[in-house]
Amino acid sequence: MSQAVRCEHHDAIIIGAGISGLYQLYRLRELGLDVRVFETGGDVGGTWYWNRYPGARFDSESYSYGFSFSEELLQEWEWSEHFAPQPETLRYVNFVADKFDLRREIRFHTRIVRASWDEAALTWEVEAEDGHRARACWLITAIGPLSVPQLPIIKGMEDFRGHAFHTSDWPREPLDLADRRVGIIGTGATAVQLIPVVAETAGHLTVFQRSPNWCAPLHNAPIDAEAQAQIKAGYDTIFARCRASHGAFIHDADRRKAMEVSPQEREAFYEKLYGEPGFGIWMGNFRDTFVDEAANRTISEFMARKIRVRVRDPETAEKLVPKDHGFGTRRVPMETGYYETFNRDNVRLVDLNQMPIKRISPAGVVTSGEEHRLDILVYATGFDAVTGGFDLIDIRGCNGQSLKEKWANGPRTLLGMQISGFPNMFTIVGPHNAASFCNIPRCSEQNVEWVTDCIRHMRARGVRRMEAQEAAEAEWTTHVHESAARMLYSKVDSWFMGVNPNRPGKNRRIFLLYGAGAPLYREKCAAAAANGYEGFKLA
Ligand code: NAP
Repeated sequence: MSQAVRCEHHDAIIIGAGISGLYQLYRLRELGLDVRVFETGGDVGGTWYWNRYPGARFDSESYSYGFSFSEELLQEWEWSEHFAPQPETLRYVNFVADKFDLRREIRFHTRIVRASWDEAALTWEVEAEDGHRARACWLITAIGPLSVPQLPIIKGMEDFRGHAFHTSDWPREPLDLADRRVGIIGTGATAVQLIPVVAETAGHLTVFQRSPNWCAPLHNAPIDAEAQAQIKAGYDTIFARCRASHGAFIHDADRRKAMEVSPQEREAFYEKLYGEPGFGIWMGNFRDTFVDEAANRTISEFMARKIRVRVRDPETAEKLVPKDHGFGTRRVPMETGYYETFNRDNVRLVDLNQMPIKRISPAGVVTSGEEHRLDILVYATGFDAVTGGFDLIDIRGCNGQSLKEKWANGPRTLLGMQISGFPNMFTIVGPHNAASFCNIPRCSEQNVEWVTDCIRHMRARGVRRMEAQEAAEAEWTTHVHESAARMLYSKVDSWFMGVNPNRPGKNRRIFLLYGAGAPLYREKCAAAAANGYEGFKLA
């Protein structure tokens, strides 16, 4: 028997059973396709399956995050809090998988390590770590922008005698922190959710901070019966607001510029935003805070004053005030009591700029000043963002071309959806795609629907091969970089800019997202489709 016969054959293969992969499965099945999903994890949920650390919860309003495609689902599901905790979100994803019977097409515990295009057969073949293989006409990656945990590179990590893990590997069995000495390395959005919760139960907590971030209050609250009824009656309005906004959140930039109003009015506006729930202070701020340094300085100074008021020890407060970047130029961590945590007797902040980590010892973390003895060490050190998931699969297109090599100097795509030289492959929520810089389900629904329409179009016309044209890809890549260049975040190191200090070769700034906003992105995708998939070669 030939090898090809022994491998599964499908119409479409989806890699990933998170929010995007599940919806893509639902839509392609509706189209009558035979679909197979491969998922590394043991169940559905993607980011919500893996990230179970205490304090993990939405930073987008719960009701703006759920799937919008089924009115019945919207009416059936009840979010309990304005910003739901991770266990509830995972229950939600499971509820969706059960309701639409999605699990039967998913092979769990299957990490795809290789994918190659067969030009003669016009199919993709994928291979899993366990040797399992499958073929299909279409390959859709739904692997998430923040799915590859990134450990730091520190001498002696393997010597630590206590319990050490990355936040996305938080132990599934209950972890008793009482009387334990816990260390957390990192102060990004994950750590900012985790730190206050750990501080409440741990015997002692040491936070190792290299770069402080500008954190804003989440102001979470339970959803009462009246609000629940309003939410259920108002989904159309909620989703319309998301559609109209830059990042598909319910918050959109204020049309005024920061300097157009008096200092008193500006202060009152910032105070109002600071007292409101969610990303409003970031996404709903004066529109020039993202592009104008003077405007940005006014909100940064406001935020710095808040930190200095909330943190009692002036020296600690100063360490928590970012000095090297303005507010909102990196992802704003949302916090609940984060700054007050540093007023507790059992919490210590170690500034790694003053005392860099020298090594991990069997007993803890050794900085230039001392050895911090620990029982548990948590790496809240982030992810190999956006392209990291692609790097883990050996993806080979026409003539065996490697995607990793093609992207060695940064991603090149058309609409963040297809890649020249890699026919019939779609990258939902991939690089240079608005969905990676977005209230993800809102934008991934658009990606999925665009891909579904495209496959419907191909089938209706007997088109068996679709590929981004090189010139159109180059034009899109230039557009992505040009629209990011005016934004202040392009002058700051962060995962937005592809900077990963722990991954050799990723220490330079190459923008990975799409900064011109979800509405423009949707328009461009729709225009390409309306013009017979302009920029793509259909054969
Ligand atoms: P992150 O923002 O990349 O933060 C990683 C942290 O680890 C940074 O403080 C970084 O410091 C530090 N770090 C990395 N390597 C280090 C080293 N070798 N030594 C010392 N410190 C080191 O990662 P994250 O906090 O996991 O968040 C990633 C993204 O996930 C967020 O931006 C957000 O988009 C998403 N997220 C979403 C939610 C939500 O929606 N609810 C919650 C959590 C996270 P430097 O800054 O100095 O490199």
